[in-house]
Amino acid sequence: MRDTDSIAIIGGGPAGALAGSILAQCGKNVLLFDEKLAWEKPCGGGITYKALQQYPFLADAGAQSNPIENCELISPSGQKVRFHMQHPVAIFSRRELNGLMLERARQAGAKVHHERVNRVSRVNGEWQLVAAEREYRASYVLFAAGARNPFRSQFLSPISASDLMVTAGYFIPGRGSLMQIQFLKGITGYIWVFPRADHVSAGIAGKMGELPTIELRRILEKWLEENGYRLQGARFYSHILPSLRAQSFVTLEVSGDGWAMIGDSAGLVDPITGEGLYYALRSAELCAEALLAGRPQEYCASLEEEVLPELRLAARISRRFYAGQIFGDSVLEKMISLTASSATFRELMSDLFAGIQGYRDLRSRLYGILPTVMAEGLAGTLRRPWFDKGGLAGDPVVE
Ligand SMILES: Cc1cc2nc3c(=O)[nH]c(=O)nc-3n(C[C@H](O)[C@H](O)[C@H](O)COP(=O)(O)OP(=O)(O)OC[C@H]3O[C@@H](n4cnc5c(N)ncnc54)[C@H](O)[C@@H]3O)c2cc1C
Repeated sequence: MRDTDSIAIIGGGPAGALAGSILAQCGKNVLLFDEKLAWEKPCGGGITYKALQQYPFLADAGAQSNPIENCELISPSGQKVRFHMQHPVAIFSRRELNGLMLERARQAGAKVHHERVNRVSRVNGEWQLVAAEREYRASYVLFAAGARNPFRSQFLSPISASDLMVTAGYFIPGRGSLMQIQFLKGITGYIWVFPRADHVSAGIAGKMGELPTIELRRILEKWLEENGYRLQGARFYSHILPSLRAQSFVTLEVSGDGWAMIGDSAGLVDPITGEGLYYALRSAELCAEALLAGRPQEYCASLEEEVLPELRLAARISRRFYAGQIFGDSVLEKMISLTASSATFRELMSDLFAGIQGYRDLRSRLYGILPTVMAEGLAGTLRRPWFDKGGLAGDPVVE
């Protein structure tokens, strides 16, 4: 790639916009296309502490995000626990987040086009991009078009339904300060309520093929009604989310001659939590760094070194997390009862929500804290005579 050559980025979500700003900042000629620019993309909008540390401009976004310190977890049987997160999760409206990131790209010198790219082809080693109004040329193309990436089939086989989640949700007028997560029987996914600065994003996610979207929507609506949320004035949304199986991560392809995919386009989402924003940003950064070094092929190696081992492991343990058993109980029930009964376990949960506890060293940390967790659980049981009668359904709130 010559320095004067242009790099086309299709998609101006977090992945495309960050790649655009890094590349333009370093003098590359960047053409960034988004058909909607800043829009309320279906999303929870939750950004972990780990991502805020890595991308401080997000931590500095101030009123554009809502820092949430308290989380309520609800098990499939209805056990509830609220706990304080040591590092708040910043919840963004996606219109705000995308707007902020596109503005950074613009200021760095990227040419931002409010256009849909309809077709991409390679002619004599150069890319031709066909948009509604006109055609563009580029020497390299970055696909950042999200989970529905329409260009994938030109290079790779389509993402299988078993590698996707379906989601349904509502943007609900109102404000809040409690993040809620309800796990569900028989669904590989959960209901979430993420309060943003000026509204709430509430939704449900499940593996594609498990339940039709209409059924997920019905479950969500019932839950929202039972939990005091009114849908008057709310706006419905639905979208897909990559949730790759372990074997799909093994054979994952994200780049080729003159092109690369980043973010959701590449399938880079945590298959347990659905967290994709951090991976969209990090993959964009790694890809941009490889392009700036003049060694685009190093993007794959960087992903392999830093990102994929974590995501592959998440994919391997996802089934056990949602449907497995431990100590004679389901993993989800046990996780919530331990969160209620043990301060040490709550610390672990807080670190998981902050993104600073990875999956790879989770097992060794769990083994290390197990005796303390058990002792704290036992001490709590002895202190609370009601425990035997009512179980944990009494909604313990712990700090
Ligand atoms: C319901 C739901 C809830 C989620 N909640 C969270 C959460 O709380 N936290 C989290 O970390 N992750 C969450 N995710 C995942 C997160 O939304 C994605 O991982 C993230 O948006 C990926 O960023 P991206 O830039 O790769 O893609 P996107 O954000 O999807 O951006 C792609 C962009 O490409 C544009 N585009 C597409 N095709 C074209 C075209 N042909 N021409 C021009 N432009 C085009 C689109 O307009 C869009 O702006 C959630 C996902 C869903 C579906």
